[in-house]
Amino acid sequence: MALAISSTIEPRLLLRRLPRVCLALGGDTADEMMDTAESLARDNPFLEFRLDYLKQPQSALTKIHRFLETHRYVTAIGTCRRAASGGKFKGSVAAQLEVLGKAQAAGCQIVDVEIESALRAKPEAIARLRSCAGLMVSFHDFRGTRHLEETLGKMLKVPADFYKIVGTATTLSDNVAMMKFVQTESDRHPLIGLCMGEQGIISRVLGVRAGSVFTFGAVNADLKTASGQVSAADLHGTYRIDQVDAATRIYGVAGDPIGHSLSPVIMNTALRRENVNAVYLPLHAKTLKDLIHCAREIPLHGLSITMPYKQAILPYLDNTDTHTAKIGACNTVVRGQDGKLYGFNTDIAGIVRPLEQRLAIEGAKVLVLGAGGAARAAVFGLKERGAEVWILNRTSVKAQKLARQAKAHSIPRAGLRKIAFDAIVNATPVGMGNKRECPLQDDEIQARVVFDMVYDPVETHLLQVARAKGIAVIPGIEMFVQQAARQFEIWTGKPAPAGDMLHAVVAALQERAAAQKQPKA
Ligand code: NAP
Repeated sequence: MALAISSTIEPRLLLRRLPRVCLALGGDTADEMMDTAESLARDNPFLEFRLDYLKQPQSALTKIHRFLETHRYVTAIGTCRRAASGGKFKGSVAAQLEVLGKAQAAGCQIVDVEIESALRAKPEAIARLRSCAGLMVSFHDFRGTRHLEETLGKMLKVPADFYKIVGTATTLSDNVAMMKFVQTESDRHPLIGLCMGEQGIISRVLGVRAGSVFTFGAVNADLKTASGQVSAADLHGTYRIDQVDAATRIYGVAGDPIGHSLSPVIMNTALRRENVNAVYLPLHAKTLKDLIHCAREIPLHGLSITMPYKQAILPYLDNTDTHTAKIGACNTVVRGQDGKLYGFNTDIAGIVRPLEQRLAIEGAKVLVLGAGGAARAAVFGLKERGAEVWILNRTSVKAQKLARQAKAHSIPRAGLRKIAFDAIVNATPVGMGNKRECPLQDDEIQARVVFDMVYDPVETHLLQVARAKGIAVIPGIEMFVQQAARQFEIWTGKPAPAGDMLHAVVAALQERAAAQKQPKA
């Protein structure tokens, strides 16, 4: 094999021209790996070839050589991580270094050697690797984010061009620890610091702002080379990582679980459209204590609060608006310049805004199904606007209690046909998840407007029946957009681009539905 290319770029110069995201390439075969490289290199000129993913790592080297000769704008990292250090390569340290030496000769400008291998190898062998390419010494902790300074101290014994320290976030606060560490040490050493795991997304997006030289992105959600890796397309498109700087304000949606939330899509769309220097992240908070610590330390400028914390967050807030106090639930937090946390409830806006576009709320007769958090927002919001409200709930005592609190009526199911309602609002989860379930019988659906808070699927059975009867319908997606729009307004003081937000959510839901229909490989 003619391995003629060796790096002609000084590591110091390399550092200056490196993009913020390195696309990590796995694959079962060398051809698959190279096909992915070929198709994504134009948008991702910084690639990591994970040679340890291949049964025969050396089978890719000639192909990589050819690829790098024809894609001279690409910077490549060659990695062949040993199984003992969390990779897939089962060979010895000597065999690993041999692969990396050849990767370098094939044109990889940087090679990654785990600290475990670097310490076991002869110093001359490591020095040789570094003589014609940048050397990255790496360390991965698959259990937690611990002993960062001590680990770096050990790594610095091996002269290298980059030091990569990767922890695992078991709490949101682990990101705080990682970023503080990177902030302190990156002035003295070229560092890459981030946390793996679903809770590590903060460090993956904000690490570069703290001083990490770059971060890693996945090819897509199904082709990750590390847990919690975000796709490079999302890092660039959704989170706008290339624009994240010291002035970027940080927002997030906190809940448990949070993986399926559409809030990052909708809110980042709005921030980008209105040119707000801010980023909005999904925050998997396993405890509120952890979330609050993170909110103060990062610091976060605002939070969307979702299940199961809408009520539980109240004691942590310094003040709330009257809606939040009345409903007893908060879905929006603002961290003031004084560091205090202020709570709002924008679900009311999410209910009232779409309804008032279809009918005059004052004096309207409205039936609310359910007596949980969303129903409370509907009942209090509609009462405040002068509607007459009836509540029907599976557990009737809860309906009666809410009716007393809000000066509304509770109604038994048998009483439904006695009243001509202007609007019916479904605030139960019945119909969620593409089921054929409906909270009412067909002949009970009598009104001018039917509003279903359920938004996945977009067209629920309730809405289908109502539409067939010629009744105006409001899909839950409108509530989702309007409550988010109100959050956006509270945080930024700007009118929200509701049309763009709606398009973004519809597209995301369609994508999700299409992915669910795909047969699993
Ligand atoms: P919640 O506090 O848990 O309340 C759920 C309510 O639904 C309770 O009154 C419960 O009755 C009733 N319910 C649950 N399962 C039922 C069933 N199988 N049959 C009849 N009634 C049932 O939930 P929430 O936060 O109010 O949310 C309610 C729905 O609104 C969810 O589907 C949520 O996704 C949706 N939502 C949508 C938006 C949006 O932006 N579109 C925003 C907020 C909420 P019991 O009292 O008898 O348990």
